[in-house]
Amino acid sequence: MKPADWIEISNIVQRAGVPAMVAFARDTKASARQPIRYATFFLRGGWRGLPPASDAPPAPPRDSPSGRPPHCGHPDCDPITRTRETEDDRGLRTVSRCPDCHPATQKGHAA
Ligand SMILES: [Zn+2]
Repeated sequence: MKPADWIEISNIVQRAGVPAMVAFARDTKASARQPIRYATFFLRGGWRGLPPASDAPPAPPRDSPSGRPPHCGHPDCDPITRTRETEDDRGLRTVSRCPDCHPATQKGHAA
C-alpha cells in the first residue's frame, strides 16, 4: 500500500473504529467473487464510506405500545393532530380523523 493509503486507513480507524472496519471486511470477503489480496480492496470498496462511529447510536424504538402510531405521511394529514382537512366541490372544508394514523382509528390494527 502507498503511504497515502496508510494515512487514510488510520483516519478511518479514528473515525469509524476498528470493529466497524473488521465487520465490513468480513462481510465483503464473504460476498466477494475473487480472493482478496490487498487491504486497499477494502479501502476502495467501502471503508471510506463507513459512518463515524459516534454518529451511529442505536436507533430508539419507533413505535412504543403507549405511543402514537407513526405519521402516515399523507399530504393532507397533520402530523400533530393526525387529522385531515379536505375541501369538497363547493369549497367546504372538512376536518376528519386520519383513517391511517389517527390513534382512535388504530384499533384492530396489527402494528
Ligand atoms: Zn395520517
